[in-house]
Amino acid sequence: MTVVVNPATEETIAEVPGATVEEADRVIEVAKRAYPAWRAVNPGDRARLLRKLGGLVEEHGEELARLETRNVGKPISDSRGEVQMVADVFYFYAGAVDKHYGETIPVAGGVNMTFREPLGVVGLIVPWNFPIAIASWKLGPALACGNTVVLKPAELTPLTALRLSDLALEAGLPEGVLNILTGSGSVVGKRLVEHPDVAKIGFTGSTEVGRGVMQGAAETIKRVTLELGGKSANVVFADADLEAAAASAPYAVFGNAGQDCCARSRILVERSAYDRFLELLIERAAGVQLGDPEDDATEMGPLISADHREKVSSYVDGNVVFRGNTPDSKGFWFPCTIVEATNDDRIAREEVFGPVAAVIPFEDEAEAVRLANDTPYGLSGSVWTRDVARALRMARAVETGVLSVNSNTSVRVSTPFGGFKQSGFGRELGMHAMEGYSELKNVYIATEGD
Ligand code: NAD
Repeated sequence: MTVVVNPATEETIAEVPGATVEEADRVIEVAKRAYPAWRAVNPGDRARLLRKLGGLVEEHGEELARLETRNVGKPISDSRGEVQMVADVFYFYAGAVDKHYGETIPVAGGVNMTFREPLGVVGLIVPWNFPIAIASWKLGPALACGNTVVLKPAELTPLTALRLSDLALEAGLPEGVLNILTGSGSVVGKRLVEHPDVAKIGFTGSTEVGRGVMQGAAETIKRVTLELGGKSANVVFADADLEAAAASAPYAVFGNAGQDCCARSRILVERSAYDRFLELLIERAAGVQLGDPEDDATEMGPLISADHREKVSSYVDGNVVFRGNTPDSKGFWFPCTIVEATNDDRIAREEVFGPVAAVIPFEDEAEAVRLANDTPYGLSGSVWTRDVARALRMARAVETGVLSVNSNTSVRVSTPFGGFKQSGFGRELGMHAMEGYSELKNVYIATEGD
């Protein structure tokens, strides 16, 4: 049994079984048996089932949001937004079912066409920071393409995934199509990666574990999509609307208590605006509301666990220019922290995954590009400038899968999301995710003899 704890109170809120390898094998077998019938469901019916699931998620939105907040410690307003996104993801992929199709290609002697075939059983492995949202990003396209699924939530945050599987049955998805496998990554996660009957792993988590997933998948030439860590840059030029950039920057790194793969945790600021921007940034950071995640006004909750707090705190040893307050109550609290750094410092090179921002000056556009790209990661990032040509030059030059100009947002249901470099490969969301959950088949029919 794994004990599930509310990070804001340190109280045990549930106990969830940790499956064994034999149990994992049985779940994979169930998904395998359900596959032929699921892939044969006609597209209209499959779309209706996914739409129904989206509707049930919306209907149970408040319940799911509360559950997510208690399990992850994230502010209820964030959980509400994420659960709404889950419903929207199922609506989007309900609509995608009959819009993901093949082509006919002119060739000599016959007809040549392509089909998009499902893969079979897919294993989905997700982290603890956005449990239900990230699960839906994978479930939507996987189910829409006709695969059956074994979803493994993170040990610390299995509750919304379990509830979602009840709703899937209520929506009418046949038994065995969406299966939840709780347990440890090194036992059941590893088994999913190695099992010969699992055709693909959709993985979101750390780069370190992702590397092992890729190695493990090599044995059976399994398909993999890897959504991994990040160390994204928030690049602020002197010509930007500094007030707007400073108002947004704290949420871009302290949102979800910094436990966000897209966190803009390196704030690069043009030297001529550095002092003014830092002053504004500190002013805005001081306004971030920490507190009871179930309170509507709360903007930042605790970290996920005591161990994680220990890890985050090990990064804060440099020139701290701001440290916020934390509630005087139980919970794995960590204050919003701003550190002046260079891009070579550990805090600027490694993913802290906590509410810690490193502020780094740069001299000109060329140095901004160099620093932004001087990282093994390439997930996300922002550029703040009023110069359109510079915005476009930067957008092309920064090596990341997702980039925003004059904004710190990263994720939309209909647009592709994923990493460059060691942030992974493959894309989630939008129509592009359908490619990762289907195989392209080419068929030639001779019409004029062989
Ligand atoms: P993690 O890598 O420790 O765990 C992720 C998942 O992998 C969990 O379900 C875990 O049980 C499982 N796992 C662990 N060992 C395994 C193994 N040997 N084989 C198979 N599965 C295994 O990550 P975490 O601590 O849960 O999440 C934080 C990390 O996730 C951060 O690095 C963050 O950047 C990353 N993340 C990336 C994205 C993205 O879209 N790029 C989104 C969210 C989080």
